[in-house]
Amino acid sequence: RFLTRAASLPRLPTTLDIVRELERGAAAATGARARIGLWEEDERRIRMWAQEGNEPFDIAPGQHLAGRAFEQQRTLFSPDPIRDDPQGADLYRRGRIGAVMATPISAGERRVGVLVLYAERPPIFADSDRELSQMLADQAAVILESRMLIEHAARVRAGEEATRLREDFLSAAAHDLKTPLTTVVAQAQFLERKASRDPLAPSDLVGLQRIVREGQRLSALVTDLLDSARREQGRVVLDREPVDIGALVSAVVARRRTDTQACEVEIRGAVVGNYDGRRIEQLVENLIENAKKYSPDATPVNVAVWQQDGEARITVRDQGIGIPPSDLPRIFERFSRASNVDDRRFHGMGLGLNICRGIVEEHGGRIWAESEIGKGSTFHVGLPIGEGRTLS
Ligand code: ADP
Repeated sequence: RFLTRAASLPRLPTTLDIVRELERGAAAATGARARIGLWEEDERRIRMWAQEGNEPFDIAPGQHLAGRAFEQQRTLFSPDPIRDDPQGADLYRRGRIGAVMATPISAGERRVGVLVLYAERPPIFADSDRELSQMLADQAAVILESRMLIEHAARVRAGEEATRLREDFLSAAAHDLKTPLTTVVAQAQFLERKASRDPLAPSDLVGLQRIVREGQRLSALVTDLLDSARREQGRVVLDREPVDIGALVSAVVARRRTDTQACEVEIRGAVVGNYDGRRIEQLVENLIENAKKYSPDATPVNVAVWQQDGEARITVRDQGIGIPPSDLPRIFERFSRASNVDDRRFHGMGLGLNICRGIVEEHGGRIWAESEIGKGSTFHVGLPIGEGRTLS
């Protein structure tokens, strides 16, 4: 469960929210109490937050078991913390803590913090808990690092335009690809260790499903990157055949019927033309995905399909955050995101609309957007009908 939530954690509003979620996840996974300390490089202190209230307190490297594990960069286990850390005896007595396990959180060479697990009695920590604790600390490292990358991306976007594109790409790709990848690797390693310890144990279906799902997410991201590169060379559209746009849109929407946000479709007569059906599907998917992403769940997304002046017309309308007028001309460019989009809240690489434009233009069509800040956006697509026909 913890790994499933992991991918969404870097986008919580504050770092403390992330720490709390990590603590909750670690506690649920181990059955112990969990506390996370973050390394404050400038002050050379480890910052923690007490269970109640959000007041932070600091400990020094080497202080208490947490500080020692951090300083020595290895997991420490004490079945008798009052003996091993007399300075903290009062705390352990008051908290009825009979065993402590502390694991450093690090991302490669970089020290991020420390994960501490507290239990009432020693036996709760078996050897496999050491591994579990290490895995939780590794996940915490990725999540906290990903948060830093997102913040970095936000800073870069606010900074110089000249270097923006490349930097943006690196930051976006780094954090969007790295989080699912790390989940896949961590989960696979966990299953591998389990399997080698007990080859006859039944396979862990949930764990395997998680690997597949995160793997697919990764693969979709990489496909987007490749599509966008292909688009530069104008070879996105492949096989054309008669496609009923109304039926195609209905099918896309039907596939997403489990979404929490409603999507209403209006098909004004079937519109058929010669298109690359898979690419048109991708176009519609992308526009609906964006409409949902950038608008509140409580408001519906409206999709309409009709024919007008020799064109198949599609519109996707939402009642969301809108797009500033000055950004409208460039949202279809590669890696471009509007200035009202907070990277920490909305994930994305700014590739989707670029791919959409490629698909539409290779069909000889046009795509544009109308928008009002705070009211919503409408994306318009016009595709030539060519030798297609209208069924009435
Ligand atoms: P991404 O969503 O990954 O950032 P896109 O290329 O799909 O990339 O969109 C580019 C930008 O256009 C978005 O970052 C956002 O600023 C803006 N945008 C796209 N669709 C919408 C929408 N429905 N409402 C508001 N803004 C949108």
